[in-house]
Amino acid sequence: MDNKSNFIYNIINQDLNFKKYTIIHTRFPPEPNGYLHIGHVKSIYLNFNIAKYYHGKCNLRFDDTNPDKESKEYVEAIKSDIQWLGFMWNGEVCYVSDYFEQLYNYAVELIQKGLAYVDELSIYAIREYRGTLKKSGQNSPYRSRSIKDNLFFFSKMRNGEFPEGSVCLRAKINMSDSSMIMRDPVLYRIKYTTHHRVGKSWCIYPTYDFSHCISDAIEGITHSLCTLEFQENRRLYNWILKNISITKHPIQYEFSRLNIKYIITSKRKLNLLVVNNIVDGWDDPRMPTISGLRRRGYTARSICEFCKRIGISRQDSYIELSELESCIRDDLNKHSLRLMAIINPIMVKIINLPTGYIEKIPMPNHPNDCSMGIRYVFFTQEIFIDRFDLDQYCKNSRFPKLTIGREIRLRHAYVIKVDHFKKDTEGNIISVHCYYDPTTLNRKPIDGRKIQGVIHWVSATKNISAEFRLYDKLFIHPTPDIVINILNIVNPRSLVISHGFVELNPIFSNNPGPYQFEREGYFILDYQYSKPTYLVFNRTVTLKKSNKS
Ligand code: ATP
Ligand code: MG
Ligand code: MG
Repeated sequence: MDNKSNFIYNIINQDLNFKKYTIIHTRFPPEPNGYLHIGHVKSIYLNFNIAKYYHGKCNLRFDDTNPDKESKEYVEAIKSDIQWLGFMWNGEVCYVSDYFEQLYNYAVELIQKGLAYVDELSIYAIREYRGTLKKSGQNSPYRSRSIKDNLFFFSKMRNGEFPEGSVCLRAKINMSDSSMIMRDPVLYRIKYTTHHRVGKSWCIYPTYDFSHCISDAIEGITHSLCTLEFQENRRLYNWILKNISITKHPIQYEFSRLNIKYIITSKRKLNLLVVNNIVDGWDDPRMPTISGLRRRGYTARSICEFCKRIGISRQDSYIELSELESCIRDDLNKHSLRLMAIINPIMVKIINLPTGYIEKIPMPNHPNDCSMGIRYVFFTQEIFIDRFDLDQYCKNSRFPKLTIGREIRLRHAYVIKVDHFKKDTEGNIISVHCYYDPTTLNRKPIDGRKIQGVIHWVSATKNISAEFRLYDKLFIHPTPDIVINILNIVNPRSLVISHGFVELNPIFSNNPGPYQFEREGYFILDYQYSKPTYLVFNRTVTLKKSNKS
């Protein structure tokens, strides 16, 4: 267990010292209106790990109180993402919709106590009457309705006798409270949309503020952890619980939400990318969703490690994207097999090898972990190397590149020396013609010649065709969450597709990776587009931090 020194663990330790609780009970309460993203993982990691550490419980509770935006698909995706991350909830999954009857009765109780009323003001008028931070609000003309009338109108609301938007139930608190949230907040509104679980049995739905605290209390949650935006709502949370006959009284604590540069963490905005076909669904490898990160090649272990490294505080900040990337790099560096792939192929013909020559060269699968074994790679008269390893296509490189007369080593194989290039009429190199030194298989030249530079390669005859999907940031703006129209700041080069080859290796038929393609980065097979004869790889991350980020 980790992260145990954050302020929430300190609070729980104190509560246990004072014997305030016998069991610690947390919850993770997503709304099923989209797929979970990396921001949610911060909350998942905190809530589930607290339960694990204190031998307590953590509920998974769907906050399904807005049928307009919610669906079964989202419920299922959220459950499977949490399990993929390695967490398991306590008992059955909980749904706020299971508490609709109880919530309704608590609303009736508030009405009976003169603490709630049915308002006929429109949503716009309610906003207008609420005033501003500087100006106190105005009472609704319906605020003084009798308890009897309120009970009658509330039951009519439930029975579907009012059109949507015409009436709502509001708490009667204080229209001149310093906090806008306390100025008679809405508790129930009418919606005729079919709900994904309860169908048409309800047409009034509780608001977040009304349902959240009561659901926490019903489930016996001890520590209700949410992000700092809800700090002001805490007073309302406590007000509702104090004024209804419920025995449990959970306590809300807030922590700072996760913000990462260049990344959006809002389901609503991510949905915009999906519906506008900017991305290939919620699991597009460029999406910061759990399913997108998984398809991109992120491991659950690396995402949890990221949460561990960022910790929990009440300080809002933006985390660099490179911090997330460094977690996956560290993980894949340890655990991924090394293979060779050529992303921008150019043909090399070895002049002093006979046509049809085949040699199987053994290579280690990991440079520092011999338990990962060896494999045999075909070395043939014609091979592919990467175009950008040619001097002509990569001027000013810090590393030695191939040019006429220069020797270079083929990774785990021989030293080659360029004799000449074949070029097309425009001067583009179409093939490279080399001699190889047969005495240099994994050995230095015997005459002591120094060879600078090692390049990767793949046989031109014994290989598998492959497509490489190279990803970059989805947005060109460092804080896309504050940009009004995110569709204007989409990076046109967030996906670059390249066609090339990987070594002929049976492993691809039963292991999607991730792999390290030497000198190119970490890659995983795309489960949607890949076929046995045409492999499609997503680049998870480059080998080194890019200077651009
Ligand atoms: P979204 O705008 O993405 O829908 P939300 O907060 O409305 O976010 P919920 O499904 O209601 O999404 O969130 C479930 C839980 O995850 C909440 O407790 C919420 O505080 C937490 N959460 C959501 N986003 C973040 C984030 N960026 N960092 C930390 N916790 C988050
Ligand atoms: Mg929410
Ligand atoms: Mg939301």
